[in-house]
Amino acid sequence: MTRHWNTYSGYLKEKYGAPVYRVSVDAGLSCPNRRSDGSGGCIYCDGTGASAVHLRVEEKGKASSSALLLGRCEDIKTQIDSGLRYIRRRYKSRLAMLYFQSWSNTYAPLPVLRKLYDEALAQYPFVSLIVSTRPDLLCDDVVALLASYRTEERDVWVELGLQSASDSTLEVLNRGHDVKCFTDAHARLKDAGIKVCTHVMMLPFIESREDMLDTIKLVNDSGSDAVKIHNLCLTRGTRLLDDYTRYGCYAGWSIRRHVETTALLLAYLDWNIIVERLLTEMTRARLVYPRHYPDKRDILEMIDSYMEARSWTQGCLS
Ligand code: SF4
Repeated sequence: MTRHWNTYSGYLKEKYGAPVYRVSVDAGLSCPNRRSDGSGGCIYCDGTGASAVHLRVEEKGKASSSALLLGRCEDIKTQIDSGLRYIRRRYKSRLAMLYFQSWSNTYAPLPVLRKLYDEALAQYPFVSLIVSTRPDLLCDDVVALLASYRTEERDVWVELGLQSASDSTLEVLNRGHDVKCFTDAHARLKDAGIKVCTHVMMLPFIESREDMLDTIKLVNDSGSDAVKIHNLCLTRGTRLLDDYTRYGCYAGWSIRRHVETTALLLAYLDWNIIVERLLTEMTRARLVYPRHYPDKRDILEMIDSYMEARSWTQGCLS
């Protein structure tokens, strides 16, 4: 479907000539921004999908570490088998990308990461390796390791959380890193030939539209290859929800405002940046707010119509 923005599906179709699907794995690597009891972290983080602390390899003795690592590799193989079966059955597709999705997938010693990636990539001729992580977990050795998986047939992507280009907002969100940490990591990834998908967030009542546009400008200036635009959601088990319940300090947007703001951000986003996502996807069971939004397909149609009515396309105001 033609949209007024540079869609991910369009990019994949053009590059591979056929639909390509992600096989997601949880490598059990947790997140350094959360405390060992599972508390803390970003104010919107509900910890779902975070691996139990007892699974973390670096916290065990050497002998048990190697046993744990082998177990984890086996577990990843099982996840890959099941993911490949699913995309073959549902989409009749053989082209697949390996996606280390859950939490911070560079949060382990280098030999552990190498073993996990090696074993997973040996399972199938994936056309991409995609690793989701935080900017403060990308030292030069890790960047070099990731770059070593690039081949003629395989791209390497990192999904990098930024959320905002404002240090004070990052503090409010308790991200545990600053903007410079992101720009440094991003530059080193690009220098190594790794593609970057930057995650940003629309933050009603925390940031103004101008703040959010500054974030989009930083994505443009960094030379990100792709972006995921999330909307801040209130979900169960988060500090954000606790604060909201206690102080009523958060209120979201109407759907109209959401659509207008998304379209505006797209109008400022350079056309060559692929839009991988325009909405946080959340199960109803976890979601407290906003529950009144229509489903994703309708929201995308509304954004498209809004842009059409103004003769906007992605990047037209950048
Ligand atoms: S970086 Fe991700 S996993 Fe870590 S606390 Fe923030 S949202 Fe949670």
